Amino acid sequence: MNDRVLSREQLASWLETLSARFQVIAPVSEEGLTRFQPVSDPAQMALDGPGPSSMSLREHFTPPTEVLFRYTLSGAAVEIWPPSEEDRARIVFGARACDAAALRYLDAVYANVQPADALYFSRRKRTRMVGLFCAEPSWSCFCAEVGDCLTQPVGMDIQLTGLGDRYYARVLTAEGEKLLGYGSSDPASKADEEAVGKAWSDAMALLPSPADLAGVNRRYEWEHPVWEKLARKCLGCGVCAFQCPTCHCFDIVDSPEGREGSRFRIWDTCQFEQFTLMGAGHNPRPSQKERARQRVFHKFQYSPERYGLSGCVGCGRCVAACPVHIDIRQVVREIAKGNSDV
Ligand code: SF4
Ligand code: SF4
Repeated sequence: MNDRVLSREQLASWLETLSARFQVIAPVSEEGLTRFQPVSDPAQMALDGPGPSSMSLREHFTPPTEVLFRYTLSGAAVEIWPPSEEDRARIVFGARACDAAALRYLDAVYANVQPADALYFSRRKRTRMVGLFCAEPSWSCFCAEVGDCLTQPVGMDIQLTGLGDRYYARVLTAEGEKLLGYGSSDPASKADEEAVGKAWSDAMALLPSPADLAGVNRRYEWEHPVWEKLARKCLGCGVCAFQCPTCHCFDIVDSPEGREGSRFRIWDTCQFEQFTLMGAGHNPRPSQKERARQRVFHKFQYSPERYGLSGCVGCGRCVAACPVHIDIRQVVREIAKGNSDV
C-alpha cells in the first residue's frame, strides 16, 4: 500500500467527510483532562501535545458501567432483554500506538472466554482506527521499553505523523486505503519519507531503550522485598488501574426494582481489598502487598505466559497519575537488577 501525504487543509476537509459518514471519536481537552469523545466538528480535537490522552480508549470498548441485560419476572418465567447498542460504524481518530496495542491485548483477553465477549467485539468490529504517531513522548512514556508498537503499530488502519505543515499517512490496511479515499491526498515523495523517518528516530531517541523483559520475568520473586515497599506507599486508590488501557477487572451487580431489574458490569480493580474478598470472609490478597504484587505479576508475567503479550504497553498513565509517585518502570527495573530500591 502506498503511503500518502495530506496538507493541514486536506486533513480538515477529509475529517469533515469522515464525520458525515462515521461516528468519529477523538481526543478532546476539557479543563486539563484529555479523553476520547465523539466529535462533530474536527476543531474540537486535541491532536497535538505530548504523550497519550489522560483517559485511555478502554471506556469506548468496555464502559465504566454498562447494562448487560434487563429482565422482567412474570410468574415463574423470566423475560430477558439485551441492551440496545449503537451500530453505526465509527472511527477512532488520533489514537496513539500504545492505545492501539492495548486493544490487541484486550482482544486476546475477551476472546479467551467462552463465549467470547459479544459487547466488546461488536464495538471492535464497527471501529476503524486512524492513529497518530507520538512525535513528542511524555516524560512518563516507556512504550519502547516494553514493545515496538511505536515503530511497528498494531491495530491501526492508518498511522499519521505530523510533519509541520502536512501529515504523512502510513496506510496499514485495505480499510485504511478505503478511508483515505474519502479525501484528497498526494503520493509521499522521497523528501516526505526522509522527513517521517527523522520524526520517528527523533521520538525513539527520547524514549527508554528496550528492557530485557524475558530476563525480568526470570527474576520475579514471590517474596521480593519490593512488594513490602510498594505496600507501604500504595494507597489502594485504584487510579492506576482505572487509567490503564489494558486493565480489565470488573464486577457484576444486579439492580432489582420489584419484578424487573438490570444486571450491570462495572469497572473494578485488583487494587481494592474487596475485589478478592470472599463471601465467607477469607481474602487471598489480604494486604496491599499481595495486591500490588498481583498487578505487576499480571502485567509482566501472567499475560506473556497466557497470551504471548505484555499486559503493559508502556503508556505511562499510571506513572503520571499515581498520587504517591509509584513508578511501575522503576519497579520492573529494580526487579531486573535484583534489588528493591523503589
Ligand atoms: S495509583 Fe498509586 S496509590 Fe493508587 S492504587 Fe495505584 S499504585 Fe497504589
Ligand atoms: S500499567 Fe501503567 S504504563 Fe502499563 S499500560 Fe497500564 S497504565 Fe500504561
